[in-house]
Amino acid sequence: MKILADMHIHSNNSFDADNTVLELCQSAVEKGISTIAITDHMEAPEIKLGDRSVFGDMVKQISKSVEEAKIANELMDDDIKVLRGMELGEPMHEPKLTKKALSIAEFDFILASIHNIRNTEDFYYLEYTERNVPDLLERYFDELLETAENADFDSLAHLTYPMRYILERTDIRPNLEDYYDVIDKILIALGKREKALEINTSMVGRIGITMPDINIIKRFRELGGKYVTIGSDAHKRENVGNYIEEGIEIARTCGFEYFTVFENRNPNLVQIWY
Ligand SMILES: [Zn+2]
Ligand SMILES: [Zn+2]
Repeated sequence: MKILADMHIHSNNSFDADNTVLELCQSAVEKGISTIAITDHMEAPEIKLGDRSVFGDMVKQISKSVEEAKIANELMDDDIKVLRGMELGEPMHEPKLTKKALSIAEFDFILASIHNIRNTEDFYYLEYTERNVPDLLERYFDELLETAENADFDSLAHLTYPMRYILERTDIRPNLEDYYDVIDKILIALGKREKALEINTSMVGRIGITMPDINIIKRFRELGGKYVTIGSDAHKRENVGNYIEEGIEIARTCGFEYFTVFENRNPNLVQIWY
């Protein structure tokens, strides 16, 4: 039997998503997904702002998210497993606040992300020019390496995050191979620390590739990577489970016989059925 797990989903406990945890569960069931992780946003440096953060009170949002995931897991019974996750942004920017974020609840699964590099806005808001792109990417991958080597998390989310905006909004086509040295170091750190690499499928429908792309996932395997998680990064109920099967197929093509589901922050391997 096919087991499909979507390990990256946002509920209305994220500032940029609208559906309740239960609506997301129903959508997952309709699409034949048997396990989901609710991974609402926690930009740890924002904790110090409390409810003055533009994202709202993130501690409150995460407590509520985890509580709702727990209740949904009980309500949905055998229909679907609902895991308590969190997408932890910029974990190395303010380590004390990150620690606080991780202590909000008992989590099944922690994704680590970098949405903005130090002293710079989220990549979502930046203007991209031929001039600034190489510098931005270099700083981004350096921070990602720092995260991969040091942070407390289970899977590294959307490794090529800035590319989604560069490719979608500009004609600039950076050659990722220019960054392969640092990307290799990131992949090696993940492997050594037994962390997972996320295959993020959110942009497959728009730019035609996963984040990271197949070459980097293959490289992760060659460098000793053991765990991959697959996530749609859905912010709407209709996007739950999108391209998860394609993500699993890419994992298989790259040499992985298993994908990974985290529970109580332990990796469980799920055999790829082909
Ligand atoms: Zn993200
Ligand atoms: Zn996300």
